[in-house]
Amino acid sequence: MLEVTGIPTFEDIEKVYPSEERLNQGPTVIMECFQNIPCNPCYTACRTGAIKPFEDINHLPTVDHDLCNGCSLCVSNCPGLAIVVLDMTYSEDQALLKIPYEFLPLPEVGQWVKGLDREGKVVCDVKVVKVIDSKALDKTPIISLALDKQYAKVVRNIRLEE
Ligand code: SF4
Ligand code: SF4
Repeated sequence: MLEVTGIPTFEDIEKVYPSEERLNQGPTVIMECFQNIPCNPCYTACRTGAIKPFEDINHLPTVDHDLCNGCSLCVSNCPGLAIVVLDMTYSEDQALLKIPYEFLPLPEVGQWVKGLDREGKVVCDVKVVKVIDSKALDKTPIISLALDKQYAKVVRNIRLEE
């Protein structure tokens, strides 16, 4: 399905997720990068060594989730918008999801927006809790969203209008 539609399957996604144990320890990166293309800014952006050196620039990134602190530098540097950071420890019933967002206008802190799945379907309402506008640095802005934990692995984008 990934090759045909560009949308990863459940099996594709499971391969890049850290363990539940790691997810429950704090924020960590999720790299949904599935295409072998010559690209490595995620690696060059990472300051903790969590993203391993590429033996071949066409290889997919490999991550040591135990070295990732969830800083999201790789999120804003990825040209493929393939990376998010997920924090399942945000609160008892809510997760914090940091996503890259290329559209304008940017949402505002405190705004409720529609959470979309990987196919662009609305799945829930999510609250914007932080906006990092890094366009001036030629990087992708990052939107931090608070959302019900049951949608944390499903939501990958937002829509501002009804
Ligand atoms: S979130 Fe930060 S620490 Fe984690 S992989 Fe990305 S750049 Fe490295
Ligand atoms: S920067 Fe993004 S698209 Fe490029 S290899 Fe890293 S995760 Fe994949």
